[in-house]
Amino acid sequence: MTASSLSFPQQDAARRTSDADRARILAAPGFGEHFTDFMAHARWRRDGGWGDDEVVPFGPIRITPAAAVLHYAQEIFEGLKAFRHADGSVWTFRPEKNAERFAASARRLALPELTVEDFIASLKAVVAADEPWVPVVDETSEASLYLRPVMFASEEFLGVRAAHMADYYVIASPAGDYFPRGVQPLVVWVSESYARAGKGGTGQAKCGGNYASSLLGKYEAAEHGADEVLFLDSETHTAIDELSGMNVFAITKDGEIRTPALTGSILEGVTRSSILRLAEDRGLRPVETRLVMSEVLESLASGEIVEMFACGTAAVITPIGAFRFDGGEQVVGDGGSGEHTLALRRELTDIQYGRIEDRHGWLTRL
Ligand code: PMP
Repeated sequence: MTASSLSFPQQDAARRTSDADRARILAAPGFGEHFTDFMAHARWRRDGGWGDDEVVPFGPIRITPAAAVLHYAQEIFEGLKAFRHADGSVWTFRPEKNAERFAASARRLALPELTVEDFIASLKAVVAADEPWVPVVDETSEASLYLRPVMFASEEFLGVRAAHMADYYVIASPAGDYFPRGVQPLVVWVSESYARAGKGGTGQAKCGGNYASSLLGKYEAAEHGADEVLFLDSETHTAIDELSGMNVFAITKDGEIRTPALTGSILEGVTRSSILRLAEDRGLRPVETRLVMSEVLESLASGEIVEMFACGTAAVITPIGAFRFDGGEQVVGDGGSGEHTLALRRELTDIQYGRIEDRHGWLTRL
């Protein structure tokens, strides 16, 4: 691992959003709707490596219509959050995991890698410029500044090969609840028409194409009155992969906590791996395995599985209240929020917001 080579100096004093406008936005930020005053940028050229690092005012960028990303989707991104603690300091959660995943996604999409140090330097630069945008929270509220690193092939060239120029940005957006209804149990539609990822494909990379291909599944879910879509494995259409942007867990009445194994088709969530640790600390027994949907439905009906939830940075931990599928519906537990689910959620957010000790050393000061 090489040391940080980029410093992201601030180039320009942007006209900042007024205190009143920012306060109005932070009062009800939603998710991904509002953006801060600054963004970080760096450019990679095949013959010179990374450079041109800077923090500039947030705003539209110029891109040639012949840029490779617009034609061949050579693009990757990440998502993590900045949390304000009670003493005013700002922290992020396991950013090195996101940096490593970003590098792994870059390798899969034939994009240049950014070092862990440069990735974290870019986050620090944006948060330093946009510090007033990190929401202040009290003991019970949750709000954060969502950080979205993105890299894409910007070379003006239509040949199908890895681009010789790539641009990297970090933009930031204040975040409240991901789901409009807040932390309410989700109704999840089990899609049999669509798959998210195939063997040898890009399922474990965080690349835009995976999300584009999930959209029709989300429509299908909405048509059935569901909040989210669950994708099954593309080969046998029997095993649970994940939701369009979240991993899935099931808890049994005798204390097992099960989640689909990392088969190459699903994203290795930072929340997922953190939950596996926190669950173990609570005396639950983590099992990474193949979760066959029909067996899960049977276990739900028999009462063997008592809780299920979805998890990810944006949605944190959200209970699953019911599955809907062609020909039926299966309620999870009593359809409400399970006890372990809420306790894990509470513990994770308490660590993130600095309300309890960070015993695993997961926080990095920004
Ligand atoms: N799966 C997919 C497809 C996702 O987009 C995300 C969100 N990044 C996750 C799982 C959860 O990952 P994380 O916990 O790192 O946010």
